[in-house]
Amino acid sequence: MIEITLLGTGSPIPDPNRAGPATLVRTGGQAFLVDCGRGVLQRAAAVGVGAAGLSALLLTHLHSDHIGDLGDLIITRWISTFAPDPAPLPIIGPPGTAETVEATLKAFGHDIGYRIAHHADLNAPPAVEVHEHTEGPVWDRDGISIRVAPTDHRPVAPTIGFRIESEATSVVLAGDTVPCAGLDALAAGADALVHTVIRKDIVGNIPQQRLQDICDYHSSVEEAADTAARAGVGTLVMTHYVPALVPGQEEQWRALAASKFGGRVELGDDLHRVEVNPR
Ligand SMILES: [Zn+2]
Ligand SMILES: [Zn+2]
Repeated sequence: MIEITLLGTGSPIPDPNRAGPATLVRTGGQAFLVDCGRGVLQRAAAVGVGAAGLSALLLTHLHSDHIGDLGDLIITRWISTFAPDPAPLPIIGPPGTAETVEATLKAFGHDIGYRIAHHADLNAPPAVEVHEHTEGPVWDRDGISIRVAPTDHRPVAPTIGFRIESEATSVVLAGDTVPCAGLDALAAGADALVHTVIRKDIVGNIPQQRLQDICDYHSSVEEAADTAARAGVGTLVMTHYVPALVPGQEEQWRALAASKFGGRVELGDDLHRVEVNPR
């Protein structure tokens, strides 16, 4: 079984009820955080997961809404890990990730210096281990394997999706992307597909060019559902709602997805949990 928890279902626009994009995937005693938008650690705390309890951070791309709390995550893991010589946090992302992590550590350089000077048992900066990939296997530990494939969120590039496999169960996390061959191949036959979605029928009609621009590099609800159908997945999990999913409108979003995809459709608020079992 793989357990998916939507930690943050929001977008770049701050929302009192939705944290920034972040999804927790737990299976076989391992916990993977996929993207780390604003408020991610508060939401993770609500399900009993702390920064120190993560097996790895997986980043689909380096847009601000998906990495907003990267610094908070790295520093909080560092100061809340009490074992001597803690294992480094694996951070797996597209090329550019190492530079982003390095710059984040630099931005928190004063903080890191204060804490090392103050605490006798903190002798080194936060331990991280960055791996940059665009395609292929990226993780294989204790029965859990992960591979990545390129997605299409241009001009944001490169961007990647993740496929997490545990025994006979598989979950794919698409991130932000338009429909593309890379995602189709990655998602083929998976038990669940977690996909970010925007309502192009709404956003495309807002008389503000900067908002209309976002339509050209995201999938609409229908496009994400089409991808799910082409890949033959069992469950489509929609997240990162743009505009924010308004209470009472869940069925409208669900119906748009159901017009293209006959499987199970999941959507909801932050902390919505989906259990994925082999079919
Ligand atoms: Zn993006
Ligand atoms: Zn985004």
